[in-house]
Amino acid sequence: MKRAIFPGTFDPFTIGHYSIVIRGLAFFDEIIIGIGLNQTKKTLFSVEKRIEMIHQAFENEPRVKVMSYNSLTVDFALSVDAGYVLRGLRTVGDFEYERTIADTNRKLTGIETVILFTESEYSYISSTVARDLISYGKDISLFLPPNVKL
Ligand code: ADP
Repeated sequence: MKRAIFPGTFDPFTIGHYSIVIRGLAFFDEIIIGIGLNQTKKTLFSVEKRIEMIHQAFENEPRVKVMSYNSLTVDFALSVDAGYVLRGLRTVGDFEYERTIADTNRKLTGIETVILFTESEYSYISSTVARDLISYGKDISLFLPPNVKL
């Protein structure tokens, strides 16, 4: 069984994240979406709400699970017996960051990172912009996966 984790903050989970997971299912038998809680930054959405949104998005996809974690990402991967970390890449800016983390994770544990390029129609979508729009009272349905309501 090939199992990957898809780690992130997902504040909120967007259609960009959704697309990476759906495409990732072509490579993995199971993907566990891991909501990392070890950051000091305050989130707009509670972890319960983020889990609920992800459940809505994947209610017909039993190969996708969601969990939260409080540890180093690779320790979370080991604890769920996942050999891979799935990530999405939007910009050159993402690239340097992802490479450093991927190299560190592989050196520490042998866990490989698999990176998919974002579909171009979703490359402008980010959780940060979604939160900004919400703070000005705007509708963000366009940013959300199918079937997900705030
Ligand atoms: P983090 O705090 O780890 O960056 P995010 O929730 O922002 O967590 O993102 C999780 C993963 O999803 C990262 O690999 C990120 O590059 C990817 N991602 C974010 N937005 C998009 C998007 N619009 N399209 C594809 N991948 C994305």
